[in-house]
Amino acid sequence: MRSSSDGVFTNGELVPYGPIELNPAAAVLNYGQGLVEGLRAHRKEDGSIVLFRPEENALRMRIGADRLCMPAPSVEQFLSGVKQTILANKRWVPPTGKGSLYIRPLLIGNGAILGVAPAPQYTFVVFVCPVGHYFKGGLSPISLLTEEEYHRAAPGGTGDIKTIGNYASVVSAQKRAKGKGHSDVLYLDPVHKKFVEEVSSCNIFMVKDNAIITPLLTGTILPGITRRSIIEIAGNLGFQVEERLIAIDELLDADEVFCTGTAVVLSPVGCVVYHGRRVEYGNGKVGAVSQQLYSALTAIQKGVAEDSMGWVVQLN
Ligand code: PMP
Repeated sequence: MRSSSDGVFTNGELVPYGPIELNPAAAVLNYGQGLVEGLRAHRKEDGSIVLFRPEENALRMRIGADRLCMPAPSVEQFLSGVKQTILANKRWVPPTGKGSLYIRPLLIGNGAILGVAPAPQYTFVVFVCPVGHYFKGGLSPISLLTEEEYHRAAPGGTGDIKTIGNYASVVSAQKRAKGKGHSDVLYLDPVHKKFVEEVSSCNIFMVKDNAIITPLLTGTILPGITRRSIIEIAGNLGFQVEERLIAIDELLDADEVFCTGTAVVLSPVGCVVYHGRRVEYGNGKVGAVSQQLYSALTAIQKGVAEDSMGWVVQLN
């Protein structure tokens, strides 16, 4: 689907997966005018396919587009592009319990421009790929290395939108952490270098004395759709839920820690390393609260539990 800078997206069509032609002077290549989204489609036991809160992805893309001075497809156009692409590829949605179909909507400034300014043309593309677990071992505890040199995002920057440049800035820290045997990187806030922010591609929570606590969205953290869903699910299950600053020392003293995201779903954290100090949670086992929230979340996402929040979209 394409648009000039007037923001009217037209000419959506289904085409076979393949390279996109780009002008070397495309704004996305030179000035980073690009946004991504991520969703998962699950196959239910009856063979039908469901999506989880896709309007939230459409709205988040529109907020990001506004920040980057880009036009964005309407919520209806976004949903229609996502649904049509899934249905055209429905044979790739794995059977129940065998994974899911990852959906990647992409909005780029493909128009050519030299000099920093909004692109004259934009393209919205959706592609899909069957996936399994993001972290090796599925629902088994991951290990996080706290990053002490780099930050994921800067105050007043673009850390709270899903723009492509945010991922460029995490690759080296993530590579270093993986090289040392960790699953991913835990980022601290860029001002005090003491408050927990998030992980390269997921949000973080801690459990302490039956309270579930997640960092306040201060502008440098991506407002995850899974994060918001877990806050609501935990509240409905009777947990005390808090969104506030979490000092790293407090996280190190938590009963349980877990990460949330479309790709990682809910991944328990078994170990955090900070300043060379290694803190372990749960003796290598998944904590009871993490397990309870994982089960509640995935039952809704897979269309197994009753969808009392109206979060699940049935595709066929
Ligand atoms: N933080 C970052 C940096 C991410 O890339 C993601 C994945 N979109 C998340 C958090 C989790 O967001 P969501 O739950 O919407 O997938």
